[in-house]
Amino acid sequence: MSETFHAIRLSKSDAGQKAEFVEIGLGDLMAGDVTVAVDYSTVNYKDGLALTGKAPVVRVWPLIPGIDFAGRVESSAHEGFKPGDRVVLNGWGVGETHNGGYAQKARVKGDWLVKLPDAISNAHAMAIGTAGYTAMLCVLALEHEGVTPNKGDIVVTGAAGGVGSVAIALLAKLGYRVIASTGRASEADYLKGLGAADIIDRNELSGPARPLNKERWAGAVDAVGSHTLANVLSMTKYGGAVAACGLAQGMDLPTSVAPFILRGVTLCGVDSVMAPKAKREKAWARLASDLDLGKLDAMTTRATLKDVPQLGADIIDGKVRGRVVVDVNK
Ligand code: NDP
Repeated sequence: MSETFHAIRLSKSDAGQKAEFVEIGLGDLMAGDVTVAVDYSTVNYKDGLALTGKAPVVRVWPLIPGIDFAGRVESSAHEGFKPGDRVVLNGWGVGETHNGGYAQKARVKGDWLVKLPDAISNAHAMAIGTAGYTAMLCVLALEHEGVTPNKGDIVVTGAAGGVGSVAIALLAKLGYRVIASTGRASEADYLKGLGAADIIDRNELSGPARPLNKERWAGAVDAVGSHTLANVLSMTKYGGAVAACGLAQGMDLPTSVAPFILRGVTLCGVDSVMAPKAKREKAWARLASDLDLGKLDAMTTRATLKDVPQLGADIIDGKVRGRVVVDVNK
């Protein structure tokens, strides 16, 4: 008898799209040279867009969503991997055009996989998830631009979300003074627990921006985009840098060239999906050394595969705090 396993499958009909908990076989997976026994996945903002259909993230139907997973290699025809290797996958179109992490098994290209550092368990890898790995890429971008803790504060927007929570924990451990911008005043203690020195109301940054404003921070991690990013830029100190990775407020960027040509501010674009392997390995190595696992645990809740469709709706509604680990075997 051939082996079957559990998955969440998204399908589309004239009535719209639906997410179902299904039993499938290895023959239902797509082509790849490594098969992974998945231990954990997670729910990122993009997963929410895919699960709810709020944006056209899924481009092949039916599809197992889930843009990331951590697990153990079961079989491999790729020279870089052998059975038992602990691996993480983030992006590369998985959960968009290739079957993804919401299943007990995944078959993918070995070139997409990164071996996990010893210090990061498979559960912690998905507590970090694509959101946390992206937060690390943002911190690396700020470091690359010479934004050191002595240059001034760093503002983190979308602070109580996944990218924001991990960014705060990382920056605080690295010695930066962090200002957290949030719409959830009730999460002030949570954000301070992660290391935020100051909390501001996101409404301060969500309206139309002036070309330049009072200089408030040396750098920023922005998960929000739109007017928020425009305001962040207008308040960045001379020579500072802003790492932009998200669009929780919107895809637009209603700004002017003033911060760039009058203050020498740098806007760093951060993409996690197609990032080259060397950059990924660097980010995961830095997460192993620079993320306080106690803080990671404090921002993480646990869920099962059956919880995934509801969590997808919740993250789009801004109701998920921090990070969620999905145990696909429960
Ligand atoms: P979350 O939903 O966990 O966090 C987003 C946060 O943004 C919310 O928690 C909320 O924070 C804030 N927010 C939501 N709506 C608005 C709004 N209308 N105006 C202002 N702030 C708002 O998502 P993730 O952390 O997983 O992802 C954050 C963003 O980063 C997403 O846009 C995602 O697509 C993007 N991303 C991009 C990646 C890349 O490769 N470039 C990779 C990973 C994520 P609060 O409640 O504190 O105000």
